[in-house]
Amino acid sequence: MRRAGTMGSIDRVRIAIFAIALFALFGGLLPAAVDAAAPAKQLRVATREIPPFVFKENNRLTGFSVDLWDAIAQELRLSSTYAEHATVPELLDSVKTGKADLGIAAISVTAERSNDFDFSQPMFDAGLQIMVRDEPGGGSVGETLRLMWSSAVLPFVGLTLLFILVPAHFIWWSECRHPHGMIEHHTYFPGIFEACWWAASTLATQADQMPRSAFGRAIAVLWMFTSVLFVAYFTASVTSSLTVQQLQGDIKGPEDLPGKQVATTTGSTSALYLRQRDISVTEFPRIEQAYEALLKGQADAVVFDSPVLLYYAAHQGKGKVALVGPIFRKESYGIVFPQNSPYRLHVNNALLTLKENGGYQRIYDKYFSSRP
Ligand code: GLU
Repeated sequence: MRRAGTMGSIDRVRIAIFAIALFALFGGLLPAAVDAAAPAKQLRVATREIPPFVFKENNRLTGFSVDLWDAIAQELRLSSTYAEHATVPELLDSVKTGKADLGIAAISVTAERSNDFDFSQPMFDAGLQIMVRDEPGGGSVGETLRLMWSSAVLPFVGLTLLFILVPAHFIWWSECRHPHGMIEHHTYFPGIFEACWWAASTLATQADQMPRSAFGRAIAVLWMFTSVLFVAYFTASVTSSLTVQQLQGDIKGPEDLPGKQVATTTGSTSALYLRQRDISVTEFPRIEQAYEALLKGQADAVVFDSPVLLYYAAHQGKGKVALVGPIFRKESYGIVFPQNSPYRLHVNNALLTLKENGGYQRIYDKYFSSRP
């Protein structure tokens, strides 16, 4: 017979084992704030302005990445403070040196960066694309005029002058000797002007008078045939020269970038891509400075993250810029952590929860949906 007291102690042992098992099972799932952080620790979040992922509105940070992080933090019942950085390398540095617990902006996950950092699950699909000034029809009137007076066309101007002056002298000389010659003035200066007018009209196949002297007529016939050929040749050359130069001015994909001046942000994946291919690149801390360089004609193209460029092209840059060619290198954005961060698994868990419960989609629609 077992006594009630003995049975009670066995039950207590069972209850204790059950409690330990429960803690082992659910304790690990508790938010990072509970098991990893000291009481009420504020997470330090490194970020940088990069619209529409991070931007400032009334001195407050907002944007897709800020809203997403706020939702993750809420899910994990964590509080956080943001610290802004001028460039992605500076942001990464603050995470590496422990000045920040994590970083979120439009940070691409790369093989090189993952040597030094841990990244969350992908939070956004991006990739590199090219943006140029929007010049419908291949160029403005000014651009076309500039092309017309370029080195390819200038020799024709000299040739035209020669084609006017040479026959003008023959005609002036022969017509002055004929009693009913078509040149009124026999002195050189007014006379040669009259002859030049005739030669220019003949060159444009528009002459209204014909020489009277036999020599003059022979010259005129010769010159009329020469003019037809000259006009045909001139038209063909100008057309092909304009077409070639306009085609050369066109950027349609990354293969057209060598020899062009490209703008992007300091230390970005785009800057690295361009430098590795020896493409001339100017790096600016702020993406807006790259847009400005493009609009002012200081750069021929901006190479940067497609969603950032698309947002600009649809808002402030509407009608001024256009994206050309496909996304030529796919990239994903992630939240960056120092290696072995205790927060990463919990953040991944919260990110997946938000993707499943529609929270992520709501934030996405707020910034990227075309619907009003
Ligand atoms: N996705 C780019 C990168 O991670 C963004 C660069 C930037 O924000 O300037 O390099």
